[in-house]
Amino acid sequence: MRSTFRTLTCAAAFTSAAFLAMPAHADGEVNIYSYRQPFLIQPLLDAFTAETGIKTNVVFASKGLGERIAAEGKNSPADVMMTVDIGRLDSAKQLGITQPVASDVVNENIPAHFRDPEGHWIGLTTRARVIYASRDRVDQDSITYEELADPKWKGRLCTRSGQHVYTIGLIASMVAHHGVEETEEWLAAVRDNLAVKPSGNDRGQVKAIFAGECDISLGNTYYMGKMQTNEKEPEQKEWAASVRILFPNTEDRGSHVNIAGVVLAKHAPNKDNAVKLIEFLTSPEAQKIYAETNFEYPVKPGVEVSERVSSWGELKPDTLPLADVAKYRKTASELVDKVGFDDGPAS
Ligand code: FE
Repeated sequence: MRSTFRTLTCAAAFTSAAFLAMPAHADGEVNIYSYRQPFLIQPLLDAFTAETGIKTNVVFASKGLGERIAAEGKNSPADVMMTVDIGRLDSAKQLGITQPVASDVVNENIPAHFRDPEGHWIGLTTRARVIYASRDRVDQDSITYEELADPKWKGRLCTRSGQHVYTIGLIASMVAHHGVEETEEWLAAVRDNLAVKPSGNDRGQVKAIFAGECDISLGNTYYMGKMQTNEKEPEQKEWAASVRILFPNTEDRGSHVNIAGVVLAKHAPNKDNAVKLIEFLTSPEAQKIYAETNFEYPVKPGVEVSERVSSWGELKPDTLPLADVAKYRKTASELVDKVGFDDGPAS
């Protein structure tokens, strides 16, 4: 049975028309555990099914999927897991629920710094951690992460918790670039520039800028798109209009970027189909769809950024391997506790 399936799919690679004409049961299915909301991935999955005839089944949850795969063990129906942030991708690897993907297609499409060196996780889109700056109260057109420690920002900076995965990723990148001691000093100085104790989410910080409670905040790029196009809560359009994005460190190493990505489950029952899905997700067609749905950046070089995203300015991404960010996450988390970042300014 298995060898027949292989023969069929192999032939299909050469004659895709014949492949599409095959009955659906010959093509099989693939099971996806997803932290990404269904509306974000459905257009991609539809395109995948249209191209390959492989049916997709999605289990969506906002937390606990990795633990669920671990608990299901060898009987887990999960073939792939889709999630955001290097922290969560690397945690899946540490949890032992992944297996390496060995694919020339993936390796050709995705730059090495966006992949686990052992193939356990693969970045599919990137988002930059940038500065949202008040249009009225911030004049400068450029900024650096280092500069957030400058006393000129005293009482003017807002951010979510230092322990959030997004913040940890940025601090881990600082450790990678500057070492532990320098990062600790920097983090303590940034803490002392906070307008209020860290709380809320990235959009909440922009709301605070809109309300005049602070002048700059840290946030992921795609939230600008989510606010600008928010029909459900149109007040968010006003928040967005009160700020502009400053891409940090464009004059040197570039802005810190994180990834949304995918892992291949250790006991994937439909492994061949899972690898096909992962390969598809790295294709130019899928990269464009996936990045556009959430106002993100494609990881495959040469795939165009959407008009809205490019209207925010040019991103020069830091090319520090995400594996290095993963490596320093624990250190970053310890530093956040050590300087009492989430307690707010000490002076
Ligand atoms: Fe987010």
